[in-house]
Amino acid sequence: MIPMNPLKESFLKYLGQTSPYPIGLEIDHAEGCFVFDPEGNKYYDLISGFSVSNTGHSNPEIIEAIKCQAEKYLHTMVYGEYIQAPQVEYAKALIDSLPQGSFEQVFFTNSGAEAVEGALKLAKRHTGRHELICFRNAYHGSTHGALSVMGSELYKTAFRPLLPSVRILDFNDFAQLNQISRDTAAVIVEPLQAEAGIIPPAPGFLKALREQCNAAGSLLLFDEIQTGFGRTGELFAFMHEKVIPDILILAKALGGGMPLGAFISSGKIMSAFTRDPVLGHLTTFGGHPVSCAAGLASFNIINRRQLAKESSQHEVFIRKNLQHPSILEIRGKGLMLAVVLDSGERVDRFFKLSLRQGLLFDYFLFCHNAIRVAPPLTISEKELSDLCKRIIQTLDLTETQPI
Ligand code: PLP
Repeated sequence: MIPMNPLKESFLKYLGQTSPYPIGLEIDHAEGCFVFDPEGNKYYDLISGFSVSNTGHSNPEIIEAIKCQAEKYLHTMVYGEYIQAPQVEYAKALIDSLPQGSFEQVFFTNSGAEAVEGALKLAKRHTGRHELICFRNAYHGSTHGALSVMGSELYKTAFRPLLPSVRILDFNDFAQLNQISRDTAAVIVEPLQAEAGIIPPAPGFLKALREQCNAAGSLLLFDEIQTGFGRTGELFAFMHEKVIPDILILAKALGGGMPLGAFISSGKIMSAFTRDPVLGHLTTFGGHPVSCAAGLASFNIINRRQLAKESSQHEVFIRKNLQHPSILEIRGKGLMLAVVLDSGERVDRFFKLSLRQGLLFDYFLFCHNAIRVAPPLTISEKELSDLCKRIIQTLDLTETQPI
């Protein structure tokens, strides 16, 4: 029997695990669209840390911004008290890039789940209502509030009781929108459902959702944690349909590889946290100055290099070049794609083969018959061409791989 690598043994022994079958790849370093193991093997990153690494791994501009801020100061005080230039500058850059009038203030958090928690609380405070509406197969995070608005019982039941008054609707079902009522504080939705297997909204669905929220006086919350920062071919996915939410929730690529989340709204809505009582949402590390410096550097790269536009062009390339008899459909937008295969069993075979083929792959939470293709947006056309070839070769091998 081959002895287990001692670091892997310690990883399994000393770290709390999330499943009995972690990928277990040891990372040596990462650069651009590649991740390297200690043996020097390089892997195309098809996951990008679930849409974190939009500007590529180890981007020198981001590393420089991190170093520069780390030399000035790290943590000094809980969020919201001291004036920290990286937070202020990043908040202004975000607001300047969003439709004028609707978005005026950014509240920084540590993570996506914390941003979701903050946004749900803000909607309850602003409306004075308690009902929350979410969609089937939505994922908004793993803390109690965010878990309450997960659109699947699979990962929820064991943790009940969760938040009361949560209603789950079917995504893209116009007929169910009349369930949004004067009791509803907030409707939370991903404008392109990620973990459901990249499900785009039906034409007019987000608009109808907006209209129903307006009629009921409910706030519309867009979770753009995976869809943001150029991934879908626009800076933010809501820009495809020009449907503007009341609260925009961000994380993942927001921090340029550092932990950071945020929710963004009008000054009027945001002010609900400052009174009756004050301190409506408190966070020690929210908007950490190093994370904000890294995030702003990454945001500048996305805008300067027009990575949203590039992501759309890459989508066209993939649709043209990624063809195989086992592929039924390619769903999604930009570099947020689900390559739907003819069976979940084939996806399992692909998963087993992927590391040996130099591909880093991971499943969707709620869709078992598709491969996630979401590399860093900085991937070159040459790399993309090689990546498509490798996916096709791996799909060829799935014909003979035993299960
Ligand atoms: N919302 C969406 C759409 C996500 O994909 C995720 C994480 O995968 C979250 C929320 C939660 O973010 P975090 O893991 O930073 O708490």
